[in-house]
Amino acid sequence: MITVIGSINMDLVVRTDHFPKQGETRLGNLFATIPGGKGANQAVAAARLGADVTMLGVVGNDAFGHELVQTLKNEGIHTETIQQAAEPTGIANILVSNKDNRIIVVPGANHAWDAQMIEAMEAIIPKSKVVVFQLEIPVDMVRRGLALCKEHGVQAILNPAPTDAFTEDLLDHGALLTPNESEAETVWGAEWKDAIREFPNQVVVTLGKDGAMYPGANDAVYVTGYPVEVVDTTGAGDTFNGALAYGLSQDWELSKAIEFANAAASLSVEALGAQTGMPALDAVIERMR
Ligand code: ADP
Repeated sequence: MITVIGSINMDLVVRTDHFPKQGETRLGNLFATIPGGKGANQAVAAARLGADVTMLGVVGNDAFGHELVQTLKNEGIHTETIQQAAEPTGIANILVSNKDNRIIVVPGANHAWDAQMIEAMEAIIPKSKVVVFQLEIPVDMVRRGLALCKEHGVQAILNPAPTDAFTEDLLDHGALLTPNESEAETVWGAEWKDAIREFPNQVVVTLGKDGAMYPGANDAVYVTGYPVEVVDTTGAGDTFNGALAYGLSQDWELSKAIEFANAAASLSVEALGAQTGMPALDAVIERMR
């Protein structure tokens, strides 16, 4: 079983020809509510591939919360471990104009983790094969979760995004870290390629269309991506993480799991929206070299 411990958001997307200036009102030409949150996206990515996935997170007792839980259920994800808080469901307010966007995230219930959630983690982590974390929930909870994974010998993946809450001690628990290139640079600076040599087989840096790389026992290993016609890269990293978790849950070697995750993520960028293009297992296998 793969457990995803993280955020569940509703993305409120508004498309307009021009961003309004301060004090100005503009007409937009599209509004859509799209399920999101890195945690939920990664859970969907793994579930589409056929994994047995449980999601641990918090939503509000409101329409968005109910809808988001239902969306996850429709993907076959176990949602009994999703709790309800008094705070409103997390949202991301996304304003899109041409290829530019302006985003405000209000974490709401995603930050309302309490002692009950710690108990839920204690119950579920020992039963999991792979546990996936990101940083859109309180970092203390991630820290506890990673420590529990280590204690029970469970493989953990930490996608350190957004990096604001990242602290170096999160590397101490042996989790596999999966930053993209700019996140790696934020964590280790411009010389990140040298810095990660300290963590062989413990850091996988995603490189957009170029695929991904990781420090092997001796040299850096590059796993090339798949050239595709890009429609929308939103959710590429989430698909990569969900697929990586799938691969590791099958006891594949790291290089094979990354190869698989590149193929899955390349399929996801061929469709609009984060969850829309997340592929099923057959499609990924077909794409693989
Ligand atoms: P993020 O979406 O978190 O910024 P990346 O841009 O590194 O992360 O993308 C994650 C993964 O998605 C890459 O490792 C790669 O497998 C795939 N991917 C991203 N962009 C492309 C692209 N233009 N063509 C093919 N694959 C891509």
